[in-house]
Amino acid sequence: MTLTDPWQSLKSGNWVKLICGASFQDLPAIRSLTLAYTLAGADCIDVAADPSVINAAKEGLKAAQKLINHDQNQGLSRTWNPWLMVSLNDGEDPHFRKAYFDYQHCPPDCPRPCEKICPAQAITESENGILGVIDPRCYGCGRCLPVCPSQLIKTRSHTISPPEIIPLIQSMGIEAIEIHTQVGREDQFKQLWQAISPTINQLQLLAISCPDSPHLIDYLRYLYQLISPLPCPLIWQTDGRSMSGDIGKGTTHPAIKLGEKVLNSGIPGFVQLAGGTNHYTVPKLQEMGLLNASKTSNQRISGVAYGSYARSILSPILEQLENQSMSLNSPLALENYPNLLQQAVKIADSLVSPLKLEVRSQKSEVRS
Ligand code: SF4
Ligand code: SF4
Repeated sequence: MTLTDPWQSLKSGNWVKLICGASFQDLPAIRSLTLAYTLAGADCIDVAADPSVINAAKEGLKAAQKLINHDQNQGLSRTWNPWLMVSLNDGEDPHFRKAYFDYQHCPPDCPRPCEKICPAQAITESENGILGVIDPRCYGCGRCLPVCPSQLIKTRSHTISPPEIIPLIQSMGIEAIEIHTQVGREDQFKQLWQAISPTINQLQLLAISCPDSPHLIDYLRYLYQLISPLPCPLIWQTDGRSMSGDIGKGTTHPAIKLGEKVLNSGIPGFVQLAGGTNHYTVPKLQEMGLLNASKTSNQRISGVAYGSYARSILSPILEQLENQSMSLNSPLALENYPNLLQQAVKIADSLVSPLKLEVRSQKSEVRS
């Protein structure tokens, strides 16, 4: 396998990003996910703007680099350079929230649907028998909220402010940022942009993530005017149905529909899907002609970001890793378990490779 340069991937239309999650703070999982998806060829690792989370991702990147160097010493040629991205928000956003409840108020006979529905195994019983949310694992998907028959589950939101982000860009080797916004937040975005724009020239990439809305295109045009000219590439992340890719096949449609809408608007920038992406996304894009290598980057989808789905397909491996490292009383480092590492990379590769291979094969068809 040849790993590619992120900038080259973006230009070629086969950019793949792993979203660990703007609120996800499970450090061992973040380290392992970063390692597996980096080895599978992801171009960008998107993590919460939290120094401990960034360090965990950097540990995963370092472990991947060590394995790649080893391969290079064995005569295998690969280059490696995924960008590290953090997200910030200009207001309330589901990606920046955590669920909580007080178990003392739960009816004793509740069948605990909250525990069953949580995709992150964040709702669990402690050793002293108390059910609760393991805060670092919760990434704010909100699926537990409507299933509680007593409506006990609430969320608390947080906003990542420029004073939190700027030191991370300056001192922690962050190469990309993503701003989560929503239609109608012109003033909040402007304020945020004024605070962070002096640091933009230190970045390789700026991404703007926005869900759909009737006035989306006018809003994106406003943002584009405001941020231009940019010293780095711009990605429009079309957030179809947030944090839903692991629910089923159909969740990919809103992401693609939104991607098409932004492409058709002609606003300059790369368009990358997110929010509902999964194994069905690339075949669907291919079927719809949206990966066409003979078109310019402004006429085709340039990349796909995978979040909840990417994490869920690796969760059985991460569980085994946790159990094995506990039973052996050894560090939770995926690279120390070659069998698990191999399985993890194979699974990650099954998500990363289809886009890489599809675009490469189209390019060779165009050339021939
Ligand atoms: S279901 Fe979603 S919001 Fe609820 S605890 Fe689990 S991860 Fe958090
Ligand atoms: S579903 Fe609601 S009431 Fe039942 S255990 Fe969960 S939080 Fe408590």
